[in-house]
Amino acid sequence: MGDIMKLYNTLTHSVEKFVPIDENEVKMYTCGPTVYHFAHIGNLRTYIFEDILEKSLKFLGYNVKRCMNITDVGHLTSDSDSGEDKMLKGAKREHKTVLQIADYYTEEFKKDCKKLNIRWPDIVSPATKNIDEYIKIISKLLDDGYAYLSGGNVYFDTSKLNDYYVLTNHKEDEMVVGVREGVEEDFNKRNQADFVLWFTKSKFDDQELKWDSPWGYGYPGWHIECSGISIKYLGEYLDIHCGGIDNIFPHHTNEIAQSESYLGHKWCNYWVHGEHLNDQSGKMSKSKGEFLTVSLLESKGYNPLVYRFMCLNSHYRKVLVFSYDILDNMQQAYSKLKSRISNLGNEEDSSDTDKYMNEFKEALADDLNTSLAITIVYDVLKSDLTNAKKKYLIKKFDEVLSLNLVDEDEKVHELDEYIKKQIELRNNAKKEKDFALADQIRNELLEKGIILKDTREGTKYEVK
Ligand code: AMP
Ligand code: ZN
Repeated sequence: MGDIMKLYNTLTHSVEKFVPIDENEVKMYTCGPTVYHFAHIGNLRTYIFEDILEKSLKFLGYNVKRCMNITDVGHLTSDSDSGEDKMLKGAKREHKTVLQIADYYTEEFKKDCKKLNIRWPDIVSPATKNIDEYIKIISKLLDDGYAYLSGGNVYFDTSKLNDYYVLTNHKEDEMVVGVREGVEEDFNKRNQADFVLWFTKSKFDDQELKWDSPWGYGYPGWHIECSGISIKYLGEYLDIHCGGIDNIFPHHTNEIAQSESYLGHKWCNYWVHGEHLNDQSGKMSKSKGEFLTVSLLESKGYNPLVYRFMCLNSHYRKVLVFSYDILDNMQQAYSKLKSRISNLGNEEDSSDTDKYMNEFKEALADDLNTSLAITIVYDVLKSDLTNAKKKYLIKKFDEVLSLNLVDEDEKVHELDEYIKKQIELRNNAKKEKDFALADQIRNELLEKGIILKDTREGTKYEVK
């Protein structure tokens, strides 16, 4: 293991050394999108931060297994269980079914992630595919007295916990948006802070997606989805759970309450939250003002990676305010940086590069100091290292930064060289009548999606 990661843990309100439960596999859960509309670039800032966290951990030598949900039911317009289901709202807006909306916006989200070089997590699961898991958890919470039935819905009883507000330390000012936003009183609740685990009776008679349950035909609340999916796919002990700061309360607070009451032990050790991206008017919105999406930036001529570059130039725990002026500056800086790197040539040399490699790792390990990590890229360029060493380092750094700093054209060129080499080896094998080796080479290429075609003009290839 290389440098030890240090992260700000919302649970302890301090920067801590990261110690995984199992050295062999870090278990990381990140709250996924509610797929009722396009993601705005604010949402995507959070996914960029989570992507950098995952890649930094890997770069520092940890093996990471990451899981994310897709919220396709149960997330209401207010995080505190009031208002309309966002998915239903999306379906009405576009005269489609909820499932059509979910499929469409999940695909769009995937495309945005691809454009921003955000790695798709190892496990991605839609909320609607795990209903049995929520029913199992809710049943046990009812049996153990942590939940109650009232007015047809199942609620979690927050008064049963000594420390319901573990994440927020009772500091009201840290409880962002959720509760303050249009709270409607629900007289079925025993305590104001109680939240819905399962809806049967509610204002939304036209809710499309409903399932059978021991408490009647209905659907899960938003919070239980993340607990259920995380426990189902990553097990009873979690290392890291992430989201945007608006998730701290009530979403993550409720996740902890129900998960730990269900499991009977501490669930997750590190809670890591990203600050928001705001627009000029303040809070970013999908309905008011300019709806800032990746496609909008592209239509204005920006490379989406310039937005990633902008995010990485600031710290994930600082508020970032979006403006086209900043993006223009970033665009310029990004183009210049890429052109400097493209002049380094194709040679790579890893010798005597430890100093910069260590500095880069230290920056990442220091609670993800990505702006310092980018400064180190500039330091490398300015240094008196040979071009081959510079090239080696920057290519390595880009495994984490994912800014395509080393041109795609070059990657294509490299692939071409590699395949030609393999074809040559195969031809030699055939000449020597070592057909087993020749077949092996062809099959290995095939597994990588490279199809060899023997023609009269020699062997050609196609990449799937
Ligand atoms: P949602 O699709 O509403 O469930 O939100 C997806 C993710 O985006 C959550 O992790 C939120 O915390 C995060 N998020 C929402 N608004 C912003 C914002 N303005 N800046 C950064 N992250 C945000
Ligand atoms: Zn969640």
